[in-house]
Amino acid sequence: MDKKVIAIVTRAVPYRESDMVLTLVSPEEGRITASARGCLKPRAKLRFAAEPMNFGEYMLAGKGDRYIVTDCVQYDAFSPVTADLDKFYSACMILELLSKLSPEPQPGVFLAAVNALKAMAYEGKEGRDAACDFLLDALREGGNGLDLTTCAECGCVLDDEAALSEGGGVMCKHCAPWDSVKVDASSRAFMAGEERNVPEAIKIRANRLLADFLYRTQGVRPDSSYFKEQE
Ligand SMILES: [Zn+2]
Repeated sequence: MDKKVIAIVTRAVPYRESDMVLTLVSPEEGRITASARGCLKPRAKLRFAAEPMNFGEYMLAGKGDRYIVTDCVQYDAFSPVTADLDKFYSACMILELLSKLSPEPQPGVFLAAVNALKAMAYEGKEGRDAACDFLLDALREGGNGLDLTTCAECGCVLDDEAALSEGGGVMCKHCAPWDSVKVDASSRAFMAGEERNVPEAIKIRANRLLADFLYRTQGVRPDSSYFKEQE
């Protein structure tokens, strides 16, 4: 039984002599495992379809977890992303989270991931900025959207240090409960998109806070080297 799915490759692992086992994520079907046979042979016509970040329409034969890729119409490979290490690391982290969040279809997270890759590849968006916006999108899609501009408790405008609370969202320092996580003023302004021209160390700290919050609320975190690479 053949089927056609729109999907992106989030992971590709060599298998046997010339095959690849792919993790695909589709907005309609969620995570799918499929093998791309013979794609490591010289001049294999489906080599491109087995590259991480390849986005297209995949023709799959078989069923369950035994799909085989029989054809692919490429929409985009976002190749400029691979020319910039920060963008590349961010793309890996985004694809990893997309995959982990997609045992069930997550069209909103899928769209956020594709938009992040597009913005890095063609719109000059920096890797860490794209990672930040993707983390915020993933939180929002999971029902944990953060309003980084006003205190969730008293409604004051946030312009100083703030706090992130699992139960209550973003709060000012006066309302922050004891078990909330402190967010310094620069990290908050970066997350909110008010000031993106900040030192890399602040971007890294802000993204780590968001990734930790995603883990605490949605149980998923990148175990790739994303944060380790940046220390
Ligand atoms: Zn407050």
